[in-house]
Amino acid sequence: MRDQAREQLAQSGGGGQIGRCALACCFALLLLGGGNLFGCRAFPRQTAGVTRVPEKHSVRVENLLLVSDFKLSKKDPLVLELQELRERVVATLKLPEPRRDVMVYLFSDQETYRAYLAQLYPGLPDRRAYFVGTSEELAVYTFWGNRIQEDLRHEATHGILHASLAGVPLWLDEGLAEYFEVPGSPVGGMNGDYPQQLAMATSNGWRPDLDRLESIEEFTSLQRIDYQESWAWVHYLLHSSPETRQELLAYIVDLRDSPQPERLASRLEGITPAYSDRFLSYMSSMGISGSAVIRAAHGE
Ligand SMILES: [Zn+2]
Repeated sequence: MRDQAREQLAQSGGGGQIGRCALACCFALLLLGGGNLFGCRAFPRQTAGVTRVPEKHSVRVENLLLVSDFKLSKKDPLVLELQELRERVVATLKLPEPRRDVMVYLFSDQETYRAYLAQLYPGLPDRRAYFVGTSEELAVYTFWGNRIQEDLRHEATHGILHASLAGVPLWLDEGLAEYFEVPGSPVGGMNGDYPQQLAMATSNGWRPDLDRLESIEEFTSLQRIDYQESWAWVHYLLHSSPETRQELLAYIVDLRDSPQPERLASRLEGITPAYSDRFLSYMSSMGISGSAVIRAAHGE
């Protein structure tokens, strides 16, 4: 599988998108303060008889340290893409210098990856990749498969954010990861069928609610549409106007030192009371309208 995936990477030039993640494929686990969401446990890396993390080879990309049991050169398309991702996340969000390293554990196969996570966090939903933040370590776990590029763009974004900021609200963490997982230049491409899915929900009576999103604290509470809405809010904030972009950047500045600054919904309401209506209009301007949904649904 690894060689096959490498071949796909080479064919795509390293920046191509291999498939689309139709479902939210990651959860960021934030186990701050010692890590007690699943019980406070040390990482059993060297214990005999248990699966361990990869450790034979490593490649550093700024504060991202990729470790694997297979050789990965600095020129590998995967490594180069991570470097580019880091640069675009830092530049777009004007992030400060990172305070911590991010370990990126690349397992050779899915079986070993699953076994490791199962022993570390029994009962964890089966996903292709995870980001785990603890007071000891920021770590991305994934395996060499045909979606590794997309998964790494998403998970590494979590790592890059948490390495520079005191905290990242759950919705923003996922919204930004969904935003930066989309390849291509410039940033801001549509993420799969999210526009159509949101439009369909809107035509069925769903309405965006940033205040509600900001209230969600457990990653297991996030529904698929919450990922989509978070992505759309990030897109709106970064692209709808210089004022909304500035508001998001100011919020991120506050997150450098405070994990819970004044909520963004309150800030937006302060400058534009009808910000939710503007958000809906923005979605429509992206072609996310009820009629577009119906066409898309019938077209598939
Ligand atoms: Zn995520």
